[in-house]
Amino acid sequence: MPDIIRLLPDTVANQIAAGEVIQRPSSAIKELLENAVDAGSKRIEVYVKDSGKTLIQIVDDGSGMSPADARMAFERHATSKIRSAADLFAIRTMGFRGEALASISAIAQVELKSRRHDDEVGTSIEIEGNEIKKQEPSGTPPGTTILIKNLFYNVPARRNFLKSNAIEARHIIDEFERVAYSNPDVYFSLNQNGIEIFRLPPSNLRQRIVNINGSNYNERLVPVQEETSLLSITGFVGKPEFSKKTRGEQFFFVNKRFIKDGYLNHAVTNAFKELLSKDSYPAYWLYIDIDPSRIDVNIHPTKTEIKFEDERSVYAIVRSAVKRSLGQYSVSPAIDFDREKSFDIPHSMRFQPVQKPTVTINTDYNPFSRQEKQIATSGWQKLYDGLVQPEIKNTVATPSYLNTAENDAPLFQLGPYIINKINEGLLVIDAVAAHERILYQKFIQSLSSGTSVSQQSLFPLTLSLSASDFQIMKEIESDIRILGFDLQEFGLNTYAIHGIPSDIEKGREKEILESIIEQYKQNSDSLSTGASENLARILARSIAIPKNSVLSMQEMKSLLRDLHSCEKSNTGIDGKPCMILLKTGDLSEKFR
Ligand code: ADP
Ligand code: MG
Repeated sequence: MPDIIRLLPDTVANQIAAGEVIQRPSSAIKELLENAVDAGSKRIEVYVKDSGKTLIQIVDDGSGMSPADARMAFERHATSKIRSAADLFAIRTMGFRGEALASISAIAQVELKSRRHDDEVGTSIEIEGNEIKKQEPSGTPPGTTILIKNLFYNVPARRNFLKSNAIEARHIIDEFERVAYSNPDVYFSLNQNGIEIFRLPPSNLRQRIVNINGSNYNERLVPVQEETSLLSITGFVGKPEFSKKTRGEQFFFVNKRFIKDGYLNHAVTNAFKELLSKDSYPAYWLYIDIDPSRIDVNIHPTKTEIKFEDERSVYAIVRSAVKRSLGQYSVSPAIDFDREKSFDIPHSMRFQPVQKPTVTINTDYNPFSRQEKQIATSGWQKLYDGLVQPEIKNTVATPSYLNTAENDAPLFQLGPYIINKINEGLLVIDAVAAHERILYQKFIQSLSSGTSVSQQSLFPLTLSLSASDFQIMKEIESDIRILGFDLQEFGLNTYAIHGIPSDIEKGREKEILESIIEQYKQNSDSLSTGASENLARILARSIAIPKNSVLSMQEMKSLLRDLHSCEKSNTGIDGKPCMILLKTGDLSEKFR
């Protein structure tokens, strides 16, 4: 029998490595951006076509490479950043595995132009499937320009795995933002299909966050700063009142590297405890600087996970640093050390004679008189008045207790539940889940019939978004229109809202659109199938009554009525029950 084990040819090995490192266009962009940062660039421009599927170009003004280095850079395990295994524990650069360029050139056509600042001429290389096609001297500006064409051209299976352009574009924006956040002193721009999406001038961190997300972020940030012998932390957390319903803006950087770390995320969330409502997530941009010998960055091919030598201490420091910042932020108006210890008397009153205060009492007031108290609700009940009820025949056999909608059986609210006494026992309805179900049903109908009711605004509102949110909006714009939003692009990253679905209360339109975007962001990967159902679900969730709303009798009645006319009226849109029946018999059980 002959021996059968063979060394893989380099091209195959590189393709295998590419499978780990380069999953999609955005991973190539991440690697190239990191190379540009490692080369000390002060200005980095990214150009992308078809979400990176056909073209990615990155131009930097960094160190550049010698002709020999430029060629060498595409070899596997070729790096200028470490020399020995010991160096692994002193890493301050983003790259060190020497895999990125070899991987990319195994699965794409690459053109590189590079020139060191002191060289008269640079070099230009063309390489395809790891094979050098051409190398020649080139009059190129100092720095490096790299062009990646037709990613995965020779790996059709991978190409077919790519998602829609819109989704891939957003992955690109995510990676771009991470690198831009970790290097605020570097100029970055991102241009997709000829449209400039970001232009970020060199600045401090606060300014960078604002430039990426919009000027309304300035007031949302609370600085975090902590210096210990183990590590230092700087950065910002978002004020609790601006926290979002979904995790979005959560960034940890360790020695400038963006990392994902559930344990540290817990530390921050824990510091926010009690300041956040249950289903919202804090925003944070936290930068940990730590001696590289105390971390291991080489545990994951894409290097987004790292290991801390002393994880528990890091956790404790992060938690206390965030806690302290939040504490200072919330009490700071009360403590002002510069002010004298005296009462503040308005200047104009300072020399007026002091008058004895008088108190007027309404002697007719009777605290026990029973006036109907008007409890302010969100006013959503009016939306049900005069609304044409959807005529849906239940396709599933309706349990008999559901046919009791119009009766005058006792109805009251108990916390988040509506309780309705019917013949069989007690119907317990989760008000929020029920409202979501009703709205969902309506939106699904609109989407399938292509019609909806929109209320027009006299004065259109403008919604200015971050570049990435704007992309999302473009992605979902047509569906959103069908649901009753009447909006139009209105200048850079801005929409004008001319009309909103009739179910939305005026004044909440911005909040709701933002929440739709947030939820969409979190779910988009799963959204490619059944997109309209998901959108209907997201919208229903975004505009359903807030938890713990106090409902009037009329509101409860219309909620019940509408719920009963829904398909699947006893299941919420998340699949959990939204209505249960407590049978009298069930109660008797309890008395045994
Ligand atoms: P790594 O970044 O892990 O070293 P890469 O394959 O990404 O591996 O890059 C290989 C080498 O090519 C780098 O170590 C660096 O010396 C050089 N290089 C890559 N991109 C650039 C760039 N934009 N400017 C200067 N040198 C670069
Ligand atoms: Mg690299």
